[in-house]
Amino acid sequence: MTLDRFLQDLDRDIRAAADWGKVADYIPELGGIAPDQFGIAVALADGQVLTAGQADQEFSIQSVSKVFALACVLGRIGEQLWLRVGREPSGDRFDSILLLEQEKGRPRNPFINAGAIVVTDELLRGRSPQLTLAEILGFVRAAAEDDDIHIDKAVARSEARTGYRNAALAHYLRSFGNLRNPPDHVIGTYVHQCAIEMSCIQLARAGRVIAGLDCAPALLAPVKQRRINALMMTCGQYDGSGNFAFRVGMPAKSGVGGGLLIIAPGKASIAIWSPGLDGWGNSQMGTLAAEKLAEFTGWSVFG
Ligand code: GLN
Repeated sequence: MTLDRFLQDLDRDIRAAADWGKVADYIPELGGIAPDQFGIAVALADGQVLTAGQADQEFSIQSVSKVFALACVLGRIGEQLWLRVGREPSGDRFDSILLLEQEKGRPRNPFINAGAIVVTDELLRGRSPQLTLAEILGFVRAAAEDDDIHIDKAVARSEARTGYRNAALAHYLRSFGNLRNPPDHVIGTYVHQCAIEMSCIQLARAGRVIAGLDCAPALLAPVKQRRINALMMTCGQYDGSGNFAFRVGMPAKSGVGGGLLIIAPGKASIAIWSPGLDGWGNSQMGTLAAEKLAEFTGWSVFG
C-alpha cells in the first residue's frame, strides 16, 4: 500500500472513533472547538507533502511553538541556555510548579511551561516583545517557507486574561532570579508565541528543519537538530513522554490546541491535528494516528 493510500484509510479509521478526548477549555477561546476533527500532513525529504483529512485547517499550535523558540534561543546563545534550564523529563504536568521549589527556580526542561517561559525571557534580552515575536514568527515562516503564518491575537488575549498559573510561574522564577524581564512582559510575549496559527501542511513544512530533510532550508545546524530531537523524545509530551516513545518511537511535541509535530529524522516531518486531548494534555486521536503511522512506515527511531 502507498503512504498516500494509508493516510486516506487512516483518516477514515480515525473518524470512526467513539472517544475523541476533551478540548482544552482553560483557554476560553479554544474551549468552543469541536473535538471530532482530524488532519495530517507528512513532509518528505524530496519536498512532497502528503495529506489527509483537515490538513489545511489552521489551529493554535500552543506548546508546539516551544520547539521553534528553543531553536531560536540555541541559535542565539547556544549552550549557555543550560545554565538556566535543565534537560531532564519532569514526569509532571506541563504547567506544574512543584519541581521549581525543589530545584531552586531552574526548570527541568525547555518544554514544560516554566522552562519555555525562561526561553522566552532569554529571547527578550535586548529586544522588545514585538521584535522577539517577530524573531520567533520569522523563524517559523522561514522554516515553512510560508509568509502567511500569523498569530491569532484573540487566542493570545484570551490566554493572557486567564493565565494565572503561567503568571504565577513567571513570578516564582523571578523570585529565584531566573527571570530577567518583568513577568507581565514575558507572559505577554509567551502567550502570543503560543497563539501562532498553522495548518498541518504549514507545520509539517516548518518541521523539516528539525528533521534535517534534504528539502529543508538551512536554518539549524545538525548538532542543534539532534539536541532538539532528543529533548522532544524525552520531554515533548510532558508526563506522557515515556508512553509516547513506547507507542510511537519518534521525537514529538504536543500542544493543547491538539497539534502534534513528529520527527522521523532524515526521513519526514509529520504534523497531526485533532483537538480532543487525553489526560496528559496531548491529542488523543493524534497520538493514535501517530502510532498507526509509525507501525505502517517503520519510522520508529528504535528500528
Ligand atoms: N499556552 C499554553 C499554556 O501555557 C501551552 C500549553 C500546552 O500547549 N501544553 O498553558
